[in-house]
Amino acid sequence: MKKSNFIVDFESRNGKYYMLHTGNGNVISVDIDKKILLTDVLKVPITNERVSKRLEELGFLISKQLDEFQVATGKKILSDIKNNYLELIIMPTEKCNFRCVYCYENFEKPEMSEENQNALIEFVKRQLPNHKGLSIGWFGGEPLLAVGVIERLSKAFIDLCKKYKKPYRAGITTNGYLLSRNMFDRLTRLRVTHFQITVDGDKSIHDKQRVMAGGGGTFDTIIQNIKDIRDYSQSKLWTMSLRTNITRNIINNRDAFKRDVILPFSHDHRFYIMLRQMWTNHTEEADAIHCSNALFEEFVEQCDIGYESLYQEYVFSYGSHFTCYAANPNAFVIGSDGTFYKCTCALYDDVNHIGKIDSNGHIDFDENKFSYWIAPKAYNNTECLSCSQYAACVSKGCPYKQKEACNQETLNVLRCYIPQFYHLANDKEDFTDLL
Ligand code: SF4
Ligand code: SF4
Ligand code: SF4
Repeated sequence: MKKSNFIVDFESRNGKYYMLHTGNGNVISVDIDKKILLTDVLKVPITNERVSKRLEELGFLISKQLDEFQVATGKKILSDIKNNYLELIIMPTEKCNFRCVYCYENFEKPEMSEENQNALIEFVKRQLPNHKGLSIGWFGGEPLLAVGVIERLSKAFIDLCKKYKKPYRAGITTNGYLLSRNMFDRLTRLRVTHFQITVDGDKSIHDKQRVMAGGGGTFDTIIQNIKDIRDYSQSKLWTMSLRTNITRNIINNRDAFKRDVILPFSHDHRFYIMLRQMWTNHTEEADAIHCSNALFEEFVEQCDIGYESLYQEYVFSYGSHFTCYAANPNAFVIGSDGTFYKCTCALYDDVNHIGKIDSNGHIDFDENKFSYWIAPKAYNNTECLSCSQYAACVSKGCPYKQKEACNQETLNVLRCYIPQFYHLANDKEDFTDLL
């Protein structure tokens, strides 16, 4: 037997050592003073048969002959074949009522025309019989500015799914400003069950970053909308991710952030907390507020988020769930003018313009561009083939940056959650008493 390559470890500040298996999601732990004993058994399994047997059951020890990288890649291909939902991320409009300081969109394209909506319905009608089901993500711009388009397309898609007896699911990424109780009801009637909203810190910080197009803060309205939905809806059939791009400013204001953003929602199982280090494009302004990995980890531990709110993060952490939709051959992003893309970030990059729908719902795909997105980065970047995070990422964490070095950072944003993942793990063991 040999030690699996797919192990990410973490030492918590309260004296525990953890290991997460990025292939199967299992988590093991041990008191820090016995860490060496555990790592020794992983190196030389024969020294403790009882422990090595359990480590083998959990996947941390594997057969010497097994090529884990080959198997993980194969599993991803198999899951794309078996679970081949048609995944469409649709921009009903590219206009937005916000002007977030870091936004990369140009807000030029208006609401999707009726002609393009009809073409899209034709496209789905033609494609759906070849797929297991239909998954829709409403995106923008701000999608709720064109809720009429969402309504018309949702009804048509749901009818098609009924006709072909296929499952349907939908989620929305919205800035939350227009998400009143009435809007929430309207969307849930259209089978939207997952909501993602960005809240960039407490009011003093959020209102500087996520501002109205005409100027002015947005924090109070967004938080009030979310609280209204939390208190009004008794249903457990929806979930909401609250995403925050963590900066030094938020870290310096951590008490206000915890009080206003984390605590009101973190004990309601319908809410998931998603903290991410703010991405920096290395301008002086961005670098000044960008936080290091160490600062981020310390901050996350101090936020003390209940493990139930981290279920979504746990799922991301293993079994190829960290791969981006852009790498999925069954996933497409559709602009409001009918342009088909693969990635929601590189909207103005030619390699991302893979085709445009015609009025009959046909698309002449550019196969070279399409192939660029679905290829694993490992072909360009050999560091993937020694990476402990490979099983979660399959070297497709971000297929846009195909040739750039990754420094094995894909999962680092989730490492500090491993102690909470222990409670959510598919299987787990604390080895302290066995060593
Ligand atoms: S809400 Fe989204 S689309 Fe609108 S400005 Fe902010 S980041 Fe851009
Ligand atoms: S892209 Fe990065 S995180 Fe993913 S397998 Fe390659 S080196 Fe690892
Ligand atoms: S390909 Fe990369 S940049 Fe594009 S959406 Fe995926 S993670 Fe983001």
